Amino acid sequence: MLKMVGNCWFFLVCAFWAGACFGSFINAAALRIVRGQDWMSAPSRCFACNKKLTWRQNMPLIGWLSHLGKAGCCEAEIPIRYFWVELVAGLILAGHFVVFGAQLTLVFLPFLVLCGIIFLTDMEAFHIPDIASLGGTILGLIFVLAELPGLPGLRDAFIGGVLGFAMIYAINLSYRFWRGVDGMGFGDVKLMMMFGVWLGPMMLLPILFLASTVGALVGVGYILTQKISSKSAKMPPQSDITTLALPFGCFLVPAAIFLHFFDMTPLLGLTY
Ligand SMILES: [Zn+2]
Repeated sequence: MLKMVGNCWFFLVCAFWAGACFGSFINAAALRIVRGQDWMSAPSRCFACNKKLTWRQNMPLIGWLSHLGKAGCCEAEIPIRYFWVELVAGLILAGHFVVFGAQLTLVFLPFLVLCGIIFLTDMEAFHIPDIASLGGTILGLIFVLAELPGLPGLRDAFIGGVLGFAMIYAINLSYRFWRGVDGMGFGDVKLMMMFGVWLGPMMLLPILFLASTVGALVGVGYILTQKISSKSAKMPPQSDITTLALPFGCFLVPAAIFLHFFDMTPLLGLTY
């Protein structure tokens, strides 16, 4: 029994560490995509002085902690975001391992990594790279065709992809008629297509609902704090609810991961 508990902890720590390593990759890949650099094969370099990183500087979490947020090569300050991404990625992968087991964690690993990259590039540059969203859609279809466990069947994955695309495309089109501009970026259209393939069509509405609700709450909260601070500085507020632009992918991705973990479709009556 003790041995089993020990084994379990060992695998949990391994899953956390692997997640943190993927978090480090997600950080680097997102930064390179935003800068328009090669993100697949180039060796890890310092983001400030471009020096090649040693294996110790490259270690997730420890690399940041050992120099207290400073780069080992040039003392440039490394944003705390790098540490958080590695920590959260570690926790998500360890959590996935606990909830779904090793096999499904391996199947969903590429999905989670691509979600991380999309979240960061959308947050930093309002950009969802095709290589992640379209690449993720194609990879999802390949996995579905290979009948890997945990994924929807071929019919559902196909319907999910088409529906995810069509849903956001239709919202965009109606918004364009109403206000003359797109309500969401085309990147969100392809992102929802990827979610439809990986998670199935029934997940799409809950994802959209959760992301819009949290997005609206964050937007209102942001405008209220801006109004309060501009009132105390006696300045007009810089944005209101009609002009505020939020990277919607940053709400869609956490909503999708949350609902993947805590599937609420049976509670909502959205069963097959
Ligand atoms: Zn450096």
